[in-house]
Amino acid sequence: MRAEIISIGDELTSGQRLDTNSQWLSQRLGELGVETGYHTTVADDLEANTRVFREAVDRADIVISTGGLGPTADDLTRDVLAAAVGKPLVFDEAALRHIEGLFARRARAMPERNKVQAYFPEGSRVIPNPQGTAPGIDIDVPRPDRGPSRVFALPGVPAEMKEMWSATVGPAIQAMQPEPRIIRHRRIKCFGVGESDLEQMLPDLIRRGRVPSVGITVHEATITLRITAAGRDEAECRAAMEPTAQTIYECLGELVFGEEDDELQDAVVRLLARRDLTLAVGEWGTAGLLTEWLHELPDAERYVVGATVVASGKAALHAADAEADVLTGDDAVYTRTTSELASAMRTRFRADIGLAVGGVSAAVVDGSDPPRLTIALATRDGVQARTAPYTGHSAILKPRAAKQALNLLRLELLKTV
Ligand code: AMP
Ligand code: MG
Repeated sequence: MRAEIISIGDELTSGQRLDTNSQWLSQRLGELGVETGYHTTVADDLEANTRVFREAVDRADIVISTGGLGPTADDLTRDVLAAAVGKPLVFDEAALRHIEGLFARRARAMPERNKVQAYFPEGSRVIPNPQGTAPGIDIDVPRPDRGPSRVFALPGVPAEMKEMWSATVGPAIQAMQPEPRIIRHRRIKCFGVGESDLEQMLPDLIRRGRVPSVGITVHEATITLRITAAGRDEAECRAAMEPTAQTIYECLGELVFGEEDDELQDAVVRLLARRDLTLAVGEWGTAGLLTEWLHELPDAERYVVGATVVASGKAALHAADAEADVLTGDDAVYTRTTSELASAMRTRFRADIGLAVGGVSAAVVDGSDPPRLTIALATRDGVQARTAPYTGHSAILKPRAAKQALNLLRLELLKTV
């Protein structure tokens, strides 16, 4: 069974408000094993709504719309659905009493125009809205040569829409399924290569139509592989996903750092905890991102004992009590600066490990020198440093630099665990 979602409102198409209803509804449909093929957002316009509903009904067995059920002239969903089934709008006494009751509870007189919310296309079912004046509409729209498409029209107010889904629409869709089915996901998180390289390391797992399916997304250089399986219950879904997860682990090895909501810092702190090691961090060019991420973790203070954030290579050398000579765009100078910072952090905070990152963006270096990223790791065995080009969109440079630093530390900790 396939579904579509229509969100209605000028406030959405004009960009004043973001359509969050479709996202939420797609997630709920997915949990019931129903795939969503389209999201359509449409303005409060009669002709456009008529066309959008006609197309959706033609494509999908289930259509869920939100918005357009209010009492004002721009609320058109009732009329559009009545026209779609070729039936008149008929008055529903119980719905009117509910709307009047809501106004009475708020000690207000019901405006005449709210009466329109008690009209429904003939033959449709009312979806109760306990907290709001806009009841929903559940209606079968006939299609030539096959069964009808079932349309659930809900109000746009997210809280009301969600309540009506849980009480009425969700259970109704579940009852339409030939057998109970749920969908579950498992997310495996990776870092260290680009997404196309990573995909090539996997034996054709990401092809469309594979069961269970595997999707790939990237956010700030972290790659997520999402396995999706359907089954009768949680255990059946888990079992269906396990062999695919094993294949991913075997093919990607240390590129995998965690699962579900794990970030690199979770993996790093877990490894520090396992070995009972402490870490101190020095940051140049990452605006304290590394420090912030590490300290968001509940247990971090036990293992991340100190941090220093500096604004320039000169300040990094001052922080390290090192000779601050003139910095040029020279790899050796950056490497030396970042290494000094890593060593200083280790000794100053009496930590087992000092980690320093030096991200010299184009804004810092004058145009002649290419931007460089340097990462240094100081342990009792000495200091090692890595350097890499530091290019890309400025919005992603800092998080990527912080992640590369965390990843270098993670790989080092894995070697010795
Ligand atoms: P309506 O049912 O069209 O009168 O919308 C009522 C309220 O819900 C307004 O504040 C809308 O901005 C909000 N709303 C409508 N549709 C959506 C949507 N798809 N996502 C999030 N909010 C919405
Ligand atoms: Mg509206």
